[in-house]
Amino acid sequence: MIGGPARAWLAELAWSPALGLRADVLIETSGDRITRVTPDIPSSELRVTRLPGLTMPGLANAHSHAFHRTMRGVTETARGTFWTWREHMYEVADRLDPDSYLALATAVYAEMALAGVSCVGEFHYLHHGQGGTPYTDPNEMGRALIEAARLAGIRITLLDTCYLSGGLAADGRQQPLEGTQLRFGDADAAAWAARVEALGPDSVGSLGPHARLGAAIHSVRAVSPAQMPEVAIWSHRYGAPLHAHVSEQVAENRACLAAYRATPAEVLAEAGALGPRSTAVHATHLTDSDIELLAGSRCHACMCPTTEANLADGIGPARALADEGSPLTLGSDSHAVIDLLEEARRVELGERLASQERGHFTAAELAAAASTVGHASLGWPDAGELAAGGLADFVTIALDSPRTAGAPRAAALESVIFAASAADVRNLVVGGREVVSGGRHVLVDDVARALGAGIGRLLG
Ligand SMILES: [Zn+2]
Repeated sequence: MIGGPARAWLAELAWSPALGLRADVLIETSGDRITRVTPDIPSSELRVTRLPGLTMPGLANAHSHAFHRTMRGVTETARGTFWTWREHMYEVADRLDPDSYLALATAVYAEMALAGVSCVGEFHYLHHGQGGTPYTDPNEMGRALIEAARLAGIRITLLDTCYLSGGLAADGRQQPLEGTQLRFGDADAAAWAARVEALGPDSVGSLGPHARLGAAIHSVRAVSPAQMPEVAIWSHRYGAPLHAHVSEQVAENRACLAAYRATPAEVLAEAGALGPRSTAVHATHLTDSDIELLAGSRCHACMCPTTEANLADGIGPARALADEGSPLTLGSDSHAVIDLLEEARRVELGERLASQERGHFTAAELAAAASTVGHASLGWPDAGELAAGGLADFVTIALDSPRTAGAPRAAALESVIFAASAADVRNLVVGGREVVSGGRHVLVDDVARALGAGIGRLLG
């Protein structure tokens, strides 16, 4: 799928961090790379594909659990908390096998492509068969996700997740894996590393043109401090991303303090798991010193505001983290919705609700979080810019939809970030090839139908 012929595209408007907002931008590509970006070219002698609207680097969905997409809607009828939601999630997880996961994830990643996502960070912990029995190939589920991304035309960083224990009790005791959780677990971090090695990464963690391998520590709930360094060391060997859920819930902090007399951020720091290739996912309930610790290491903070709202997690200190030095990224996580533009504006809107003041983040900062920074956090530093030499991954968002029409050209980026939705994505190019054209997926004929079939099979 990746690596198209030489092509030229003419964007009505284009934005990227390096380019700023420019009009009539000629983007030339060869194979999977951009060869030249030239603004102010209203017409060209080259045969160009016109891109009406605002073109920007492809969106990076830095935190995804593909199978959570099945729960959209069905968990909205009950009261409860994150913890009761999790019980529903386990029920779905228990029904998946490599075939049904391939079908479901292909449809979910196709939905992401329609929303302008060119790269997904899949936080993957559903490794084994029922009762924890490994498949003949113990990476069959991970390979299904990599294949799903290929079929949907997007890039993937498989964040293979170490998940060893069933949680921390309120008194801090480690609990064994039980029930569905048995499918998530490896014997220990060394067994996790051996399984991950069998995916066959090259020396820098690449699994092919569209796929990279990264590591994840599920959380302090699921990996003890003694096991964490092995995962961190594996990531350092490949220069690979290292992600972890951090302080999503107050109860997690409480149990962590009871067990280790340290916050989750402090436990991860002590284990050597924080640094510029790391991402703290959620980072919702942090102390001031946690913020200093994460940001001081230049660890990314992945905000998932629609999920955090949906699961009643709380509002994370995004501005404080960014001010102290943590680059921000965005994820749709549980896929309550898949719309990175909504994630982006909710970072600002959350700050407004918490502070009763406007204007914490610029649209450009939020757009960079949704694209450039997200790609860097997933190990694709050469994506996320409209510049010669970069990967030819870019999205075009309509400026003439009912949501975006009427905005002055100078406010096109603000209009897109604060008012556009996934439904306004018109074109997506990944690796120099069109994946979405005119709002239709080029590779997956009927995405809604594919979703319906993939989910229906699991919900019965
Ligand atoms: Zn998550």
